[in-house]
Amino acid sequence: MIFHSFLLKYGEIGIKGKNRYRFEDALVRQVKLAMNQIEGEFDVYKSQARIYVDCKSDYDYDEVVDRLSKVFGLVGICPVVKVFDMDFNNLKAEVVKYMDEAYPDKNITFKVEARRANKNYPKNSMEINMDLGEAIIEAFPEIKVDVHKPMVHLNIEVRNEIYIYSKTIPGLGGMPVGSSGKAMLLLSGGIDSPVAGYMVSKRGVTIEATYFHAPPYTSERAKQKVVDLARLISKYTGPIKLHVVNFTDIQLKIYDECPHDELTIIMRRYMMMIAEHFANKDECLGLITGESIGQVASQTMESLYCTNEICTLPVYRPLVAFDKRDIVKIAEEIDTYETSILPFEDCCTIFVAKHPVTKPRLDRIKKSEENLVGKIENLVEKAIETVEIIDVH
Ligand code: ATP
Ligand code: MG
Repeated sequence: MIFHSFLLKYGEIGIKGKNRYRFEDALVRQVKLAMNQIEGEFDVYKSQARIYVDCKSDYDYDEVVDRLSKVFGLVGICPVVKVFDMDFNNLKAEVVKYMDEAYPDKNITFKVEARRANKNYPKNSMEINMDLGEAIIEAFPEIKVDVHKPMVHLNIEVRNEIYIYSKTIPGLGGMPVGSSGKAMLLLSGGIDSPVAGYMVSKRGVTIEATYFHAPPYTSERAKQKVVDLARLISKYTGPIKLHVVNFTDIQLKIYDECPHDELTIIMRRYMMMIAEHFANKDECLGLITGESIGQVASQTMESLYCTNEICTLPVYRPLVAFDKRDIVKIAEEIDTYETSILPFEDCCTIFVAKHPVTKPRLDRIKKSEENLVGKIENLVEKAIETVEIIDVH
């Protein structure tokens, strides 16, 4: 079957007035962006609380559906057959053909649901429902009408052409990217942070990212893995401005000057501080991490308390109460898992102590950080100055 168009449904609950326009405009923008990435010519527009994607050239159906099902904010994607010849007998024939092709197994119940946006059409919705229903039963005696709980809702929309659709491919829901503000994701090569970025982005948030590497202790391949992860989530979030920060000298300095059981926490505080610098520079309204209570020593509540203290921006931790296996499940769904488990070294694990504190005390951490005064500021400045920016899309 050839579909001429896709009708996109979005949730409207709670989105009113000015916010609704912002939501819709952001959604149209995201759909356009998604369609720009695939081959074919498409016309994307909004009409009567729906978004339409008209296909103006040949296209790959699976590719279109795959792209659209990654756009946050859409709840349903309906492939539409258009009938251009408005003559009713022709419509009948097209509808019968549609049912035949769409439902090879005729053991179904259905109901016709006509809407007449074009009031000049000679039949009203009631008449269209009756007459098309009759034509279908006549053509396929096995098919039954069920007006209460039909298996198939056959939608007929009379506009300047006639639209036929009955199938809805589920969308991801959420809010379209660009309908909320921007946030800075601390993206590592692990399982958690890509999932965290995905989840916050699903609330309509535009994402930037910062990755800390420690060459030569971490390799080019470890960095490439992070770029790959950013690329994988960018299918959902849209383009990501990725900041790659050389963290080696800072880590070495902390290693030299501070108690080793506090290394991870102090390093984390510096990461947050630097990520916040770039966040503020680009007008991000928050930071995002993949932290989850109790997952490792650096993520006990005491550790999170110490890490958090350095930030003035809100820190969004969407995985805070998730079990690892639930995080893995999402990672698999969004296709980041296989990349995340590639065994490359991580800058945190290289300098990690054998017995890190699990209940760090902020006063002690701050005391230890005094050892760094006068020695680390220029290293932080240098790390900021030498940042490498990669536009990932
Ligand atoms: P992930 O799977 O996201 O790497 P993790 O379970 O390995 O998380 P940690 O290594 O303790 O946990 O990191 C906690 C969070 O700190 C990460 O989710 C990420 O947001 C941030 N983070 C850790 N290492 C880095 C890094 N090298 N660059 C940027 N952010 C990092
Ligand atoms: Mg990690």
